[in-house]
Amino acid sequence: MGAGTVWSRLVFHIGTMTPLDALVAVVDVVLIAYIIYRIILLIRGTRAIHLVQGLVVLLVITVVSGWLNLSAINWLLTQAQLSLLVAIPIVFQPELRRALEHVGRGRLFGPGIGSLERPDLEQLLSDLGRAMRTMSRNKVGALIVLERETGLEEFAETGIRIDGRVSAEFLVNIFIPNTPLHDGAVIIRGNRVTAAACFLPLTESAVDAKMGGRHRAALGISEQTDAVVLIVSEETGAISLARAGKLIRNVDEDTVHEMLEELLARNERSSVFSYLSQSGGGGGE
Ligand code: ATP
Ligand code: MG
Repeated sequence: MGAGTVWSRLVFHIGTMTPLDALVAVVDVVLIAYIIYRIILLIRGTRAIHLVQGLVVLLVITVVSGWLNLSAINWLLTQAQLSLLVAIPIVFQPELRRALEHVGRGRLFGPGIGSLERPDLEQLLSDLGRAMRTMSRNKVGALIVLERETGLEEFAETGIRIDGRVSAEFLVNIFIPNTPLHDGAVIIRGNRVTAAACFLPLTESAVDAKMGGRHRAALGISEQTDAVVLIVSEETGAISLARAGKLIRNVDEDTVHEMLEELLARNERSSVFSYLSQSGGGGGE
């Protein structure tokens, strides 16, 4: 069917609509747009986004080749899509299962840090600050990931599930050496600890050879997602912050507080990038 036919049928269809039909159609389109938006937020920065990009390109080429009557290419791409329909669910079976479970638990639209009210955010920042201070002074190693728009469910599942309200005491307790939850990362969603002892992907970029696993993991997750990561070094007690593939090392507690406030407060996200570029943070610093 050519583009012209589609257009004339669309015009004809709209002409025969009642106001109620039109309203339903608008709601329908808005809902689809919202669902696509949520899915993009969920998979942004994860492996799945490349897959979706690839599929979109394939789809566009198929449609264009149809219009241009390039029948051989069109036939080939149509066949490829058929086999992809079978291949994708097999290859991405674990991810799809998790996504469905996620929807089933009703957590797809769960509250993130961006939706915290001001007093809750203040409380969270003050607890994080106190925990970082205590751990830094006592050289207790820590790795704390704050979820923002990108879902971190995939990583939370590598650890031990917790659903506990954040408090400074609770965070310090998790990271005490030789306790069951201390080894790995804590993931915070909103003002709750969702999981501890999580394994994070290590950065693949070239970093200082002396940089250990904790700092590489913090960089890794910050490259793949929009999360903000706080690190306390067990060796030196130094506090670092990772964000967007950049590590800012040896920040003092007040600076961490300021940066977090700027990063996590609602509608203030655009200024974050200027903050990071001003501080000149980089993986090898
Ligand atoms: P530190 O300055 O605290 O020693 P580091 O960057 O030198 O940090 P390592 O000494 O290699 O890191 O690792 C310390 C701890 O970091 C590990 O015991 C583990 O708890 C945590 N860690 C290391 N790699 C990962 C990872 N991929 N995901 C989550 N946690 C990790
Ligand atoms: Mg080390």
